[in-house]
Amino acid sequence: MIPAGFDYRRAETLEEAIQLLQEHGEEAKIISGGHSLLPILKARLAQPGMLVDISRIPALSGILEEEQILIIGALTTHHEIESSPEVRKLCPLLAETAAQIGDVQVRNRGTIGGSISHADPAADYPAPLIALDAEFLVTGPDGARSNRAENFFEGTFETALRPNEILTSVHIPILGRRTGASYCKAAQQASGFAVCGVAALVELGDDGLVSKASVGITGVAGAAYRATPVEEAIAGKAPSAENIEAAAAYAADDIVPFEDLYATPEFRRHLAEVWTRRALDRAARMAGS
Ligand SMILES: Cc1cc2nc3c(=O)[nH]c(=O)nc-3n(C[C@H](O)[C@H](O)[C@H](O)COP(=O)(O)OP(=O)(O)OC[C@H]3O[C@@H](n4cnc5c(N)ncnc54)[C@H](O)[C@@H]3O)c2cc1C
Repeated sequence: MIPAGFDYRRAETLEEAIQLLQEHGEEAKIISGGHSLLPILKARLAQPGMLVDISRIPALSGILEEEQILIIGALTTHHEIESSPEVRKLCPLLAETAAQIGDVQVRNRGTIGGSISHADPAADYPAPLIALDAEFLVTGPDGARSNRAENFFEGTFETALRPNEILTSVHIPILGRRTGASYCKAAQQASGFAVCGVAALVELGDDGLVSKASVGITGVAGAAYRATPVEEAIAGKAPSAENIEAAAAYAADDIVPFEDLYATPEFRRHLAEVWTRRALDRAARMAGS
């Protein structure tokens, strides 16, 4: 379990990192927390000739609120998200999700930017970030651009990132009143990755009916996805147990669940329905309280 040899450069600025990526082309790989990349290098599933370390670039750090948007730097670790007073207050769903990632060691080193860019189909963050309508800011040789979370995860370990682009920050709209949000997952016992993870947001109108619902699901398909049929089925209805159960039945509609050591496609479909019901129910209770 020893990686093949590689060169290493630590970039001090975003511009320097992009330049290094351009210089070394396909040989280069970004490293931030290293908690997904290093196991891959050790197993020799990838053998990049150059690692570009972005973990000390100040512009990629920090958590701040600007005009009702919570902005989280790509280098923010899972532990920082879990324990940040701003995130806990302005986006408790993300803090709740970060607290469920791996173990203390993983949460201390792993970063939100690394997790999103890696796009493991069983990673936790994609579900809440899709449900929250988050945007990802990326910067590359052609400048900066923004991607909607829901369009970013294109397949297993595949994203909308273009060559030599770096994910710099995550932008999350702050939720309004009478909105509840919940992340529920069935976890792999050893690693904590999601066999099925469901993030649900429920907003209640003054009439007590669901004015908006938003559902992101990870761990079930080759890439995390928005469960639009569930959202449509519960919108405008009372958040009763019957209505939630009926809507949750659409959790894996038009989805091809994958098979691995942990679950068959049939079991994943079942989990998607059960955990969507639980996440919606919990979010609706929070919205009403
Ligand atoms: C034992 C173990 C258990 C885990 N359990 C969970 C779990 O329960 N849930 C979960 O979601 N995850 C889990 N993980 C994964 C963990 O969250 C990783 O930290 C995360 O997936 C990657 O973040 P990183 O900063 O370590 O990225 P790295 O490993 O440094 O990089 C990962 C990939 O992203 C690229 N990259 C990194 N940063 C950027 C950037 N800013 N812009 C563009 N590309 C970038 C790298 O080139 C690389 O391809 C686990 C990992 C381990 C080792």
